[in-house]
Amino acid sequence: MKILLLGSGAREHALARALASDPATTELVVAPGNPGTADIATNIKIDPTSPEEVVDLATQMVADLVVVGPEAPLVAGVADAVRDAGIPVFGPGAEAAQLEGSKSFAKRVMASAGVPTADSVTCTTEAELDTALRNYDAPYVVKDDGLAAGKGVVVTSDLEAALAHGRACLAKEGGAVVVEDYLNGPEVSLFCVCDGATVRPLAPAQDFKRLGNGDVGPNTGGMGAYTPLTWAPDDLTEQVLREVAQPVVDEMARRGTAFIGLLYCGLALTDKGLRVVEFNVRFGDPETQAVLARLDSPLAELLLAAATGRLAEVPAPRWSEQAAVDVVLAAPGYPGTVTTGGLITGIPDAEALEGVHVLHAGTARDDDGNLIASGGRVLSVVALGETVADARARAYEAIGKIHLDGAQYRTDIAAGR
Ligand code: AMP
Repeated sequence: MKILLLGSGAREHALARALASDPATTELVVAPGNPGTADIATNIKIDPTSPEEVVDLATQMVADLVVVGPEAPLVAGVADAVRDAGIPVFGPGAEAAQLEGSKSFAKRVMASAGVPTADSVTCTTEAELDTALRNYDAPYVVKDDGLAAGKGVVVTSDLEAALAHGRACLAKEGGAVVVEDYLNGPEVSLFCVCDGATVRPLAPAQDFKRLGNGDVGPNTGGMGAYTPLTWAPDDLTEQVLREVAQPVVDEMARRGTAFIGLLYCGLALTDKGLRVVEFNVRFGDPETQAVLARLDSPLAELLLAAATGRLAEVPAPRWSEQAAVDVVLAAPGYPGTVTTGGLITGIPDAEALEGVHVLHAGTARDDDGNLIASGGRVLSVVALGETVADARARAYEAIGKIHLDGAQYRTDIAAGR
């Protein structure tokens, strides 16, 4: 199987690693990829959000499958273009990608499908925003309706700050904002592989979104993750499948916009029961790095089956009994203005530890071939262990061997889990 994988983060390095280890994979191209994927696949530099460039490359390499990592190409219609060219693609079309691209669209789909989520109101004027915020209690949850690269959601008890964020979202062209009930309870991410009709859940994971220990500081793309969730109810996956993922996939099919790809269910376990916090339409970063470390069955076969409507014919994914913890190392300044160019050393020492591998994200090679930081989140350090505590201890031993001046990482990922 010849596979073209789009993206360049640690999530894509994790996907590339799992795809490359599937015996069915004969060729793996990552576009544009990163120095980590260069070691296990062929990197080709194209713009992954350009439907033309992606179709050209997939056609040229006679790809059997295109796997789309990030959301931007999906919202830009890359999956539609590849599908129209007759090439199987793991990723939803632009209309189905609105489950992530528009919070209000996701709310309407959930309402039609009877899926439990926070009560909400969508506002398109400042007057509506004012009224909405007066009708909700603190803490206020104000969400940009559109894609905002992880910066669209503000949760605050400060009414002025809530109003200011809402106004900023409304000021954008065609701006709209969703105000909703605060959901109190632990969050869980469950990835579901979908072929438009059948849904195959992966292992549930939990991520850590804030920059600082103890969940303080600014929101980030994610600073770490772990799996399994030994504290979660045994029937959690079954329940999410029954109450959330299958009804949404059925509703999308009913609307004529079949969901083919990865439905990321972001959930809160509240005292009133399970509630959807958000949907994403692609693998989550950093949860993917931990989840795929435990996958014991072939990924290429699973994703091809989803892309070709044959998911019901392949066995459910199998999981290692081991736990996985993933700690993100970020460049100085992240998530604000980042200082790039710092030299990264120590990765071979980290990977010499049993059960440890290091995934690249914002890394590059300088003219002398040295590895340097080139983005906000630089590396994901992944460790397996008998328990979450074992995996955690290994991940931190490993990250201690890596050096980047001014690097930031949380020291409490998966602590006490
Ligand atoms: P979203 O982009 O919708 O996932 O929101 C980003 C983060 O904001 C979530 O992972 C939650 O931690 C938080 N969040 C979003 N919606 C709510 C809510 N209704 N109640 C509490 N926290 C929320």
